[in-house]
Amino acid sequence: MTAKLIDGKSLAAATKARVRGEVEAMVARGLRPPGLAVIMVGANPASEIYVRHKRNACRECGILSVAHDLDASCSQNRLLELIDQLNADPAIDGILVQLPLPGHIESPAVVERIDPTKDVDGFHPYNVGRLAQRRPFIRPCTPLGIVRLIEQTGLDTYGRNAVVVGASNIVGRPMALELLLLGATTTICHRFTFDLEDQVRRAEILVVAVGKPGLVKGEWIREGAMVIDVGMNRLPDGKLVGDVEFETARQRAGWITPVPGGVGPMTVAMLMSNTLESALRRQER
Ligand code: NAP
Repeated sequence: MTAKLIDGKSLAAATKARVRGEVEAMVARGLRPPGLAVIMVGANPASEIYVRHKRNACRECGILSVAHDLDASCSQNRLLELIDQLNADPAIDGILVQLPLPGHIESPAVVERIDPTKDVDGFHPYNVGRLAQRRPFIRPCTPLGIVRLIEQTGLDTYGRNAVVVGASNIVGRPMALELLLLGATTTICHRFTFDLEDQVRRAEILVVAVGKPGLVKGEWIREGAMVIDVGMNRLPDGKLVGDVEFETARQRAGWITPVPGGVGPMTVAMLMSNTLESALRRQER
């Protein structure tokens, strides 16, 4: 079997085109376009690339992006004050703080300061709690993008064995909650899992988000499984790869996401969609 590729790039482009159309319709009704504040503290090369992608996507969608680039030495209090100002700003619908933050700033305190109705990353405990209680409000972007990719394949997820490898707050854990919502029988593997290979072999839906190239061997993949590779690893030769051995996995899987061009573009597209929804809630509903 050779797996069908799950094309995140096309679905992300279609999602952004839909958002753009809805933004144009809002403006035509006399409403203001959505506003997204993007806060970056210090200069981290990877964060700069991610933030550039997000700002470009805002431009494509007609969303107003407001940059707040703070010095690496910025105090936690100064950052919290800025978030308070943005929480109160009626022209701002979404607030995004690019992680990781410098070591002297406590990320959880910063994330918790964001008004949950403007938390378009979906990382605030209120939004994670709503997802855990099966009443999602603003949903974390990467897992939500993966849900949209799974839906696009038409796979009936109810009762399927789903395995998530990686248990981070921003990907693995909310991903497992999304898979529960999809009715899948869900297992989470992490650093202390004894039998990773056995767990992966059982997976009909496999989501890998660790950040270690080649961690999941292609021969472990169950015949016909859906493989979603979230990992983004830059090899010494400059090539970008995921966490799953792609070529061998592709021979066994039913569907597989490429890296790049799979999950990554969907994360940014979901950020645009969350920001639009927030603006509509604020102005219309
Ligand atoms: P992270 O915060 O470093 O979390 C990695 C997770 O993997 C942790 O839960 C860790 O377990 C677990 N882990 C480590 N070694 C393991 C092993 N040998 N077996 C099983 N689990 C293991 O990373 P992240 O932020 O979730 O990101 C993961 C990857 O996804 C990275 O490559 C990142 O660049 C990529 N990513 C991509 C997107 C996208 O849009 N495409 C978005 C976000 C992240 P413990 O919890 O026990 O430490």
